[in-house]
Amino acid sequence: MIVLFGYERIRFLDTTLRDGEQTPGVSLTPTQKLKIAEELSAIGVNVIEAGSAVASEGEREALRLISDAGFNAEICTYVRAKHEDIDVAVKCGVDSVHLVVPVSDLHITKKLGKTREEVYVMAMESIAYAKERGLIVELSGEDSSRADQQYLARIFKDGVEHGADRLCFCDTVGLLTPEKTAEIIPPLCFAPLSIHCHNDLGLAVANSISALKSGATCVHTTINGIGERAGNAAFEEVVMVLEKLYSYNTGIDTTKIYGLSTLVSQLTKISLAANKPIVGTMAFTHESGIHAHGLLRDTATYEPMAPEIVGRKRRIVLGKHSGTASVQSALHELGYDPNEKQLAEILARVKKVGDLGMKVTDADVMAIADSVMQLECKPVLSLKQFTVVSGSNAIPTASVTMEVNGQKITGAATGTGPVDATLKVLQQSVAMLGDIQLEEYHVDAINGGTDAMVDVTVKMRKDGRSLTSRGARTDIIEASVEAVIAGMNRLLRPGK
Ligand code: MN
Repeated sequence: MIVLFGYERIRFLDTTLRDGEQTPGVSLTPTQKLKIAEELSAIGVNVIEAGSAVASEGEREALRLISDAGFNAEICTYVRAKHEDIDVAVKCGVDSVHLVVPVSDLHITKKLGKTREEVYVMAMESIAYAKERGLIVELSGEDSSRADQQYLARIFKDGVEHGADRLCFCDTVGLLTPEKTAEIIPPLCFAPLSIHCHNDLGLAVANSISALKSGATCVHTTINGIGERAGNAAFEEVVMVLEKLYSYNTGIDTTKIYGLSTLVSQLTKISLAANKPIVGTMAFTHESGIHAHGLLRDTATYEPMAPEIVGRKRRIVLGKHSGTASVQSALHELGYDPNEKQLAEILARVKKVGDLGMKVTDADVMAIADSVMQLECKPVLSLKQFTVVSGSNAIPTASVTMEVNGQKITGAATGTGPVDATLKVLQQSVAMLGDIQLEEYHVDAINGGTDAMVDVTVKMRKDGRSLTSRGARTDIIEASVEAVIAGMNRLLRPGK
C-alpha cells in the first residue's frame, strides 16, 4: 500500500441532503431525506449534513427525524453566523453545525455589506455561542479560494482558539486547480481540515484529492455529484479514486454505491448522464466488437475495475460495432446455439439494424436468430384491441382484448397515467401464464415535435430471466404496448 495520506482514515462529510438539495429544482420530503440518510450512514460516511435548519419547517422536521434515528454517522446542519440559526439547530437535536462564514472580500462587502473585522467578530461570537450549547463546530470559510489567505488563516486560527473543532476550506465557485490546492492547503492544517469543492470546471474530484494529499483530513461530497450549479465533488468518484488509484482503504462499503446513487437519482428526479463515471448507465456497458472480444477473455482488458465492486453488473449490448464473440455470447445467454454460418448471418443482420441508428434489443436479436435458424416462433399472445381514457377529470383507464394461446381475454385497469394503466392491464391479462415484472421503462422521442416517432425500450423479468424489447410508433401508448408484448412473447415462449 502506498502511504500518501499521513493519518489514520480520511473522513467523509456528505452534503447530498444540503448542498445537493440546493440543486435548482430539487426538493426532498422529510421521509425521503430520512431514507437517504439511512443509506448514507449504512455505506459508512462519517458526517451527514442533512439540511439547513433555518430554511423551513420541513427542513427542521427532516433534521429532527434523522437526528432521532440513531444512525452511526454524526448529524450536522448548515448554519450562518447568527444566534437564531444556532438556536434552531439546537432544537433539531443535531450533533454538529457547519458554520459558514464568508471570507473573500467579494462576499464580505458585496453579499453581506460588512467589513472583514465585522465578519471576524460574528464568526468568533457564533463559535462560542454554539460551543456553549454543546454542538460540534465545523467552521467553514465560504469562498476561501478567493480570500486573502492571511485573513483566512487568522479566522481559522482564532476560530480554533474560540472552540471550533474542525475547519473547512470552501472552493465555492470551483476555481482551484490541483496545483494551487497543494500550495494553499498545508499552511491551514493546524487543526482537522475539510475540503469542499465545486465542480464548475470539472476539477472538484481532482482538487479534493489534492487537498487530501496536502493534509486535509475530511472531504465534503455529494452522491452523483449533485449540488449548486455544476455540483460538488462526487462521493462515488472520490471513494473509487482513493480505493483504486491510491490503494487507500476508505472504510466505505463500495458495493452499496450504485444502489445509493440510484436512490438519490430517483428521489431528486435528477437523471444521470449516461457516461457519468461509475454510476452512469454506460459506465460498464460495452458494444464494440474488439472490446467485447477482449472482455470475454479477461474483463481487465477494457474495465478499470470489476462492476461488482460498486454494486453493478457488466452489460454487453449489440449494435453495429458488435463482433462474433459478443453476438455468440448474447445468443448463448438467450438460449440459442447457432452454427458458424448461421452466426455470421445473424451478426450481419444485427449490424444492419445498428446501422439504421436503432438500439438492438434482446427481442430483436431473438427475432433475427429465429428467422436465420428457421425456428418457428408462434407468438403466445397477440393484441386485438386497446382503448385508453385519460383527461383532466378522468381516472386514467385502459382496456385491452388479447388472444392468449388462442383464447380471447378482455381486461381493464386504472393507473397513474394512460401508459401506466395500459401496462397494468397487459400484465394482469397474462398473470395466469406467469409473473412478468416490468424492470425498466424508457422513452426517447426520435426527433423534436409532437408528431415525433417515440421509441420505447422496456426491460422485463420472468423467473429470474430478464430481457429488453422495444416499440417505435408516433403514439407513445402504442409504442409501449408494442414493446411490452414483444418482450412478453419472448419471455413466454415455450422451452426457452
Ligand atoms: Mn457548496
